[in-house]
Amino acid sequence: MARYTGPVCKICRREGLKLFLKGERCFSPKCAVEANRKPYPPGQHTQRRRKVSEYGIQLREKQKARFLYGVLERQFRRHFAEAERRQGSTGENLLRILEMRLDNVVFRLGFAESRAQARQLVTHGHITVNGQKVDIPSYETRVGQVIGVRPRSRQTEYFKMLPEVLKRREVPEWLSLDVENMSGRILRAPSRPEIDANLQEQLIVEYYSR
Ligand code: SF4
Repeated sequence: MARYTGPVCKICRREGLKLFLKGERCFSPKCAVEANRKPYPPGQHTQRRRKVSEYGIQLREKQKARFLYGVLERQFRRHFAEAERRQGSTGENLLRILEMRLDNVVFRLGFAESRAQARQLVTHGHITVNGQKVDIPSYETRVGQVIGVRPRSRQTEYFKMLPEVLKRREVPEWLSLDVENMSGRILRAPSRPEIDANLQEQLIVEYYSR
């Protein structure tokens, strides 16, 4: 289960927007994108203006989606192939598949401050689906499933504090949250407007259709 382990703020600077990859720091003035602290991409010669090709624009959009959801290229291609196979708009299918990944659902429910942290909670075996432990972050959840915390994990300091944190969290309408039981249900698959990812999925489809 490979994952990106390099500096993450550089990714936001490269894409020119906040991708919220670091949890609390992303909401503080320490954010590298915030308040024009470093309003240019990382690297030595990146402050020069350069014309970006059509391919470059498509590539950046694909990379943005990949980094936002914390998915490596090979897995992302797999998600895209699955999105193509399904009926309907490939771009929307892709975003829906990414949203329904177990690590993303754990993040959306508020169990973690970032997708990276959510991924860790899953791989460390703290998360259950319909009462069964699932430790695969890319696991695609389905409508009606209940995502919860393993009983043994509830005894840890992190999860003891969680209900207080969850009371302040808002969850998307396609999910329901039971704060007391630290669990959430998938009510339905999210529609495109409900996926608050600042992405132009059509560019990603064009990138893979070259
Ligand atoms: Fe991106 Fe968060 Fe770093 Fe800001 S603090 S640059 S939003 S990862």
